[in-house]
Amino acid sequence: MYICNYTSFKVERMKKIQMVDVKSKYEKIKTQVDSSVLEVIESGAFINGPEVHAFQKEMEDYLGVKHVIPCANGTDALQIAMMGLGLKPGDEVITADFTFAATVEVIALLQLTPVLVDVDPVSYNIDIENIKKAITPKTKAIVPVHLFGHVADMESIMQLAKEHNLYVIEDNAQAIGANYTFTDGKNQKAGTIGDVGATSFFPSKNLGCYGDGGAIFTNNDQLAHTIRGIVNHGMYVRYHHDVVGVNSRLDSIQATILRAKLPHLDAYNQARQEAARKYSKAFEDCPSIITPTAKNNQDCDKSCGFCATCDCHVFHQYTLRITNGKRDELAKRFQEEGLPFGIYYPIPLHLQKAYKDERYKEENFQVTNRLVDEVFSLPMHTELEDDQIAHLATIVKEVVEA
Ligand SMILES: *Cc1c(COP(=O)(O)O)cnc(C)c1O
Repeated sequence: MYICNYTSFKVERMKKIQMVDVKSKYEKIKTQVDSSVLEVIESGAFINGPEVHAFQKEMEDYLGVKHVIPCANGTDALQIAMMGLGLKPGDEVITADFTFAATVEVIALLQLTPVLVDVDPVSYNIDIENIKKAITPKTKAIVPVHLFGHVADMESIMQLAKEHNLYVIEDNAQAIGANYTFTDGKNQKAGTIGDVGATSFFPSKNLGCYGDGGAIFTNNDQLAHTIRGIVNHGMYVRYHHDVVGVNSRLDSIQATILRAKLPHLDAYNQARQEAARKYSKAFEDCPSIITPTAKNNQDCDKSCGFCATCDCHVFHQYTLRITNGKRDELAKRFQEEGLPFGIYYPIPLHLQKAYKDERYKEENFQVTNRLVDEVFSLPMHTELEDDQIAHLATIVKEVVEA
């Protein structure tokens, strides 16, 4: 009885759990953000002002990439990357069946042919053998998505792309700041490994602004030049429109907020990894719960996700697999308790009305088809507290292990 009361007392005292905690994070950088936003307003340089250029330079330094081209959002970043590479209607572009729709949406919008392939059951990222099977003479590009913050098997993807003369466009919307170590020890930031990378600064992403924002990364000077024109109505010289472009800009207010946050990005990602480690520890002895792994490079045999060489997972999401059919029961319990959670993603892209196609055969999507019924994402952000993690884990175990 006493223990019971004590437990509920603790739960009442616990801070309300958020899926993403944008507010507490803001409180910590409020003084700097407020004053720099005011400065932008007073300067009147709202579009392409000095703040945007300063952010671009700082991001280039952080990522170790030659060119960062800011734009309006992550979806635009993907679309512009594909336009910059000169992909043409009918070109086939291979991407993962298990991702956010933006990835396939832009392929379809540009009248390229999306080729969805199944993912790997351990990493949830695009499966290399399936990419190989999908390559045809029309294939022009591969779009790996670093899903949930976990860098895809870039070594194999780059090798394959080289053999078949394909472009690699990284969808890095969920993995900004993640590191990838190649077998030879070479280390590169996610998003800077392929021909071009695209990211999003949507507020809930690991580096989020307070509105929409995005960026394109590349080490290719020519491609960077082409893309800088595309984001600005295809203009390289004022009022001379050489190519069909778009209007896609990061505004100065968002840039100044991102400048305030960028120096903390590594600490933010470490806080996420720390929370992930605590979650995984809590589920250690649960036979029906599969916790995320981060094994990506052949050097690491620990599969721990958290050793120095496994800095390839920055936990945009912390996603469990509930393998005993109790996922929906768990979701119901979380709803009853008023606890946040996510089902990312509930429907495979090849089954979405907009992207269905006779080319797709169900037996080729066994992993994605299973994942959509098993995944359960727990609250993940930089402000999670130990009692919150413990409480969430207790509820999960009560339902799943009952
Ligand atoms: C968020 C996201 C995008 C799109 O970013 P927006 O800024 O919302 O347009 C693209 N791909 C993936 C995998 C994402 O998670």
